Amino acid sequence: MSSSASKNIESVLVENRVFPPDARATQGARISGMAAYEALCKEAEQDFEGFWTRLAKDNLNWTKPFTRTLDESNAPFYQWFGDGELNASANCLDRHIGTPVENKTAIVFEADDGTVTKVTYKELLARVSQFANALKARGIKKGDRVIVYMPMTIEGVVAMQACARIGATHSVVFGGFSAKALQERIIDAGAVAVITANYQLRGGKELPLKAIVDDGIALGGCESIKTVFVYERTPTAWNRVEGRDITFAEALKGQGTECAPVPVNAEHPLFILYTSGSTGKPKGVQHATGGYLLWAKLTMDWTFDIRPEDVFWCTADIGWITGHTYVAYGPLAAGATQVVFEGIPTFPHAGRFWQMIEKHKVSVFYTAPTAIRSLIKAADGDEKVHPKNWDLTSLRILGSVGEPINPEAWMWYHRNVGGERCPIVDTFWQTETGGHVITPLPGATPLVPGSCTLPLPGIMAAIVDETGKDLPNGAGGMLVIKRPWPSMIRTIWNDPERFKKSYFPEEMGGTIYLAGDGAVRSADRGYFRITGRIDDVLNVSGHRLGTMEIESALVAKTDLVAEAAVVGRPDDVTGEAVCAFVVLKRSRPTGEEAKQIANELRNWVAKEIGPIAKPKDIRFGDNLPKTRSGKIMRRLLRSIAKGEAITQDTSTLENPAILEQLSQTN
Ligand code: ATP
Ligand code: MG
Repeated sequence: MSSSASKNIESVLVENRVFPPDARATQGARISGMAAYEALCKEAEQDFEGFWTRLAKDNLNWTKPFTRTLDESNAPFYQWFGDGELNASANCLDRHIGTPVENKTAIVFEADDGTVTKVTYKELLARVSQFANALKARGIKKGDRVIVYMPMTIEGVVAMQACARIGATHSVVFGGFSAKALQERIIDAGAVAVITANYQLRGGKELPLKAIVDDGIALGGCESIKTVFVYERTPTAWNRVEGRDITFAEALKGQGTECAPVPVNAEHPLFILYTSGSTGKPKGVQHATGGYLLWAKLTMDWTFDIRPEDVFWCTADIGWITGHTYVAYGPLAAGATQVVFEGIPTFPHAGRFWQMIEKHKVSVFYTAPTAIRSLIKAADGDEKVHPKNWDLTSLRILGSVGEPINPEAWMWYHRNVGGERCPIVDTFWQTETGGHVITPLPGATPLVPGSCTLPLPGIMAAIVDETGKDLPNGAGGMLVIKRPWPSMIRTIWNDPERFKKSYFPEEMGGTIYLAGDGAVRSADRGYFRITGRIDDVLNVSGHRLGTMEIESALVAKTDLVAEAAVVGRPDDVTGEAVCAFVVLKRSRPTGEEAKQIANELRNWVAKEIGPIAKPKDIRFGDNLPKTRSGKIMRRLLRSIAKGEAITQDTSTLENPAILEQLSQTN
């Protein structure tokens, strides 16, 4: 049985559709054709430090040039460009002054209600400088930590850039987080100030931010906070704490629009960002100024092949790493025009993204599988919000990030959004990696749906077993990066031991970066495919099954299934049993009907993958438990599948009510 079952498992893993880049994508691309990609990889292999030295010199402005590229003496606490000095904000803004970019639109801001505001690079520099002066006026200085709890607005980007300008380390907290989550981050970071707004506007609703800051601080332990800056997004009244709170207007009054950027050491912490908490308590990931910025700029050039006439739109919130690298820093360092969107994809209707692409002539569009899946569901249910209703011909490149994209969702995105002409860059990366690490290049890489393809030049990614030994193509294992790279995490803030334990396991020698994701390389091309978190690999009767495979098979039943999450639970007979949580395109079934659909899905999985992968337990929900960044929290589903009470950290859970619904058996 085992050989035929694994053969069947193989067949769903082998994705035969290949989409080579056509002339439109390769012509004029920064990395055009696979030979150009391979030449860069070879350069990095032959002279690793020379490669990074060249790129860091060519892509960043240094106030004090570095002489040491990589310092490995205190591994895994690697240092990059460690004796150089620069300023991140100067590299995003000042560098464009005196060039044709200075009068180019930096940000096209579309508010929740559709109002559009634009700022040029010159104007943005003035606003950042003025706000940096306001920070200084409240005694905030280099090395201080500042919490940014802002809506998606120009002011949110200004707040981050202003911190960087004076060498203060920002820690952005997503505007959907609770008072408790905010308090924990304030305490952990030891922040001196919070930059927030009175309210945020999302989906036509006004939601409080400042009141949550007050509640968070009131929970205690936040005495380090001396100032709360309040951007008055709406005219609605809010409660002022005298002596501590100051509005943006008050803070900016009398401040000049010039502020010299403070040079900092390349290793100076640019920011701390807490991970999304999919697998446990969020970690305060610390990033360094020089290496991080280098990769933000370079990946804009390489992965998005950004060109002067492009209109770039990354839909991620600045509260996530994607919003840091591909909203607040990368596009500005690259001198691009970008769209910043305040609202949500389903308001006032689920065609909002497509409408905005048409309206702003977006050419490079970057979003998450969770958004794509929900918009597929919406378009299936209502013709009027299908992308075909808008003119999307401005699009040139599409991107995906955050989770593996199921091949079926990839195909839909390719056909209905990309008009079968736009390469899709399925970018694999993490808060810890600072920027893309494994991704197709639009002008070079032949695409395979569901695969993030190949590592970027200089990223020494590999798949290994528990001892760090390389595995051959076709064998699933753990994803690692064998050499350090400039934009990697420097430490976990306040917890260097957890940093070492989480990412540099002793069993692998203590210097190799362990991503925490499982992956497999295809036999033919050596392409990487992420199979899920390491914890998510199931062992059913001795067969290793990635949860992602079974989920993709379920979602491939396109007439029925909108979304699926698969976890394992202990089973006396098979070791582990497969449990699937499924959201249907129609309403949630119960009773006999649920049993019948569950059987249909079981048979489907048996046919798609093999009987071994058949879910023992299938439960239906209106939704799945997700982090506020839209990722499925499988660790909670694992507890539900086992019938355990949930005792884990749920501070980053978006929709707690769903847990109870999913706990019910059919
Ligand atoms: P935590 O580390 O707290 O559990 P998290 O890992 O969800 O949270 P992030 O750093 O936001 O926090 O997400 C990185 C993870 O997202 C990756 O490790 C991977 O599991 C997943 N991921 C991101 N992009 C892709 C992609 N293109 N394909 C597959 N998986 C992806
Ligand atoms: Mg993670």
